[in-house]
Amino acid sequence: MLSTKERRHGAEMNTTLTRRNLFRAFRPGDAAPEPEARVAHIGATCVEPRGVTCRRCGEACDVSAIKFTLMRGGAQPGLDMTICTGCGECAPVCPVNAIALIDRDRALLAASVAAEARS
Ligand code: SF4
Ligand code: SF4
Repeated sequence: MLSTKERRHGAEMNTTLTRRNLFRAFRPGDAAPEPEARVAHIGATCVEPRGVTCRRCGEACDVSAIKFTLMRGGAQPGLDMTICTGCGECAPVCPVNAIALIDRDRALLAASVAAEARS
């Protein structure tokens, strides 16, 4: 049985852009994934960027994985995937259902693709 640290390390190692990792990341998830296999995803319906103060998700997160960056007209929420445990405490407090828990490998791969596109 792998430790949490080993599982997380394994997830980080799976971000290499190979056909195998793409299939792994986007296949349907198991029926009951472990919390560490998931990560929060904050969607576009979050009201903070539109100037409505909320931040309930940030207050619900025990490990402070959600931070807000001030921007013109509001604030942009951001998730630190290296801190998020996938506990899901932030999702039910969101008044606009902007938060979903997604597969950690998929999120890491998407972040890797986005970073490559920016470079
Ligand atoms: S899933 Fe848990 S650890 Fe991750 S951001 Fe939400 S409350 Fe924080
Ligand atoms: S709880 Fe929902 S609407 Fe409020 S700041 Fe978090 S993601 Fe945005």
